[in-house]
Amino acid sequence: MNNYDAIIIGAGSVGTPTAHFLSQKGLKVLVLEMRAASGQGDNKAAIGGVRATHSDPGKIQTCIESLKIFSTWEEEYGFDMGWKPGGYCFPVYEEKTEEVLKGLLPTQKNYGLKIDWINKHKVAEIVPGINTENLRGGTYSPEDGQVSTLLAPIGFQREAQKNGAVFQFNEKVIKYELKNNKLTSVITDKKKYSAGVVILANGADAAEHGPLLGMDIPVVPDTHEAGISAPVKQFLAPLIVDLRSGPEGKTTNFYFGQNREGQIIFCYTPKELFIGTDRESQSEFMPIIANRMISLIPRLQNLLIRRVWRGCYPMTPDGVPIIDFAPEIDGLFLAVGMCGQGFMLWPGAGKNIASLIVDKKPIISEEANNFFRYDRDFYAAKKEALK
Ligand SMILES: Cc1cc2nc3c(=O)[nH]c(=O)nc-3n(C[C@H](O)[C@H](O)[C@H](O)COP(=O)(O)OP(=O)(O)OC[C@H]3O[C@@H](n4cnc5c(N)ncnc54)[C@H](O)[C@@H]3O)c2cc1C
Repeated sequence: MNNYDAIIIGAGSVGTPTAHFLSQKGLKVLVLEMRAASGQGDNKAAIGGVRATHSDPGKIQTCIESLKIFSTWEEEYGFDMGWKPGGYCFPVYEEKTEEVLKGLLPTQKNYGLKIDWINKHKVAEIVPGINTENLRGGTYSPEDGQVSTLLAPIGFQREAQKNGAVFQFNEKVIKYELKNNKLTSVITDKKKYSAGVVILANGADAAEHGPLLGMDIPVVPDTHEAGISAPVKQFLAPLIVDLRSGPEGKTTNFYFGQNREGQIIFCYTPKELFIGTDRESQSEFMPIIANRMISLIPRLQNLLIRRVWRGCYPMTPDGVPIIDFAPEIDGLFLAVGMCGQGFMLWPGAGKNIASLIVDKKPIISEEANNFFRYDRDFYAAKKEALK
């Protein structure tokens, strides 16, 4: 009973869609999760933004698949994941940002993405009440959207279970057994299991499993805070990303949107990173984000804030996830280092790895797939920048 075709460690943003796609292909799947339910790690810290409008082919092609899956999930499986179309809008106030975003458009359009530069009047139309002083215009990608991070893991888990996948909660993986570089068993605080392939999808804790497996897993988490308001009447269709640095000197970009329930959900990227996994909220978050949001859209001053939280971005040195077979351990697949985009990447990436594992070929192009390889030079971009 303890032998499976695939074991997934972690039932989060990564683990739950992976369980769905692997079990859909007929594999006998076991998911081991140390928490009491799916999606209770950093998955539920995400604000649920899903966009394909990235700058590299790996993320673009993977998120195109994710968008197809999220936007048709209810139709296909009769379960509402809180999908809200409405796109992403990056309003732009600075010349340099305009150049950068316009520079990405040819690549993005090359992959068939619907994204364009729009003038300031159009931005003001789709972002009602936006501050138009010095507004230059912005990018708008109407086919991106939002999903509930609370509902999505339940949807994936439910379908995986229908296909026979087993979810074991409150069970922590603590050890592995290897023989001649083959991963032979996974040991939890309760039992010992074996499988043809083990998928490591344990988010912010990935690096801790490096020494247990005798390899380096270059994932360092840093934390980001977010919050949500009480619901207000729907007025904001797209998610908004403001790429400016904040006047308070502590923030870089910030992003927010209005979910299907009418709540405004928001977070920012701190200038100085908070390295580690301390998920306690900080007193500076609300005053800073409130100022930024109100100066962008003054009518947001009337919002009632319901709660705040802090979660991790499991970061790799180059900000790109690792989605690859471990090079020196037979039977181990690494699905770690999701950075700030694990929620949006994983339906597409889960479908891709199910195809890699079962059909031995990716559903995205080889070029795109290579972006996620473990054996890449994680410091290549930094070295290039220093030249
Ligand atoms: C404020 C904030 C906003 C964000 N917004 C977005 C967004 O809009 N869109 C987006 O795409 N991403 C967003 N993210 C990023 C996203 O949350 C992460 O990239 C993603 O959740 C990581 O997924 P994961 O499956 O790797 O980790 P998790 O979802 O944390 O899953 C890992 C699971 O593994 C389990 N686990 C760990 N160790 C063990 C063990 N030894 N045994 C058993 N189980 C174990 C954990 O309990 C956990 O459930 C945001 C993050 C934050 C903090």
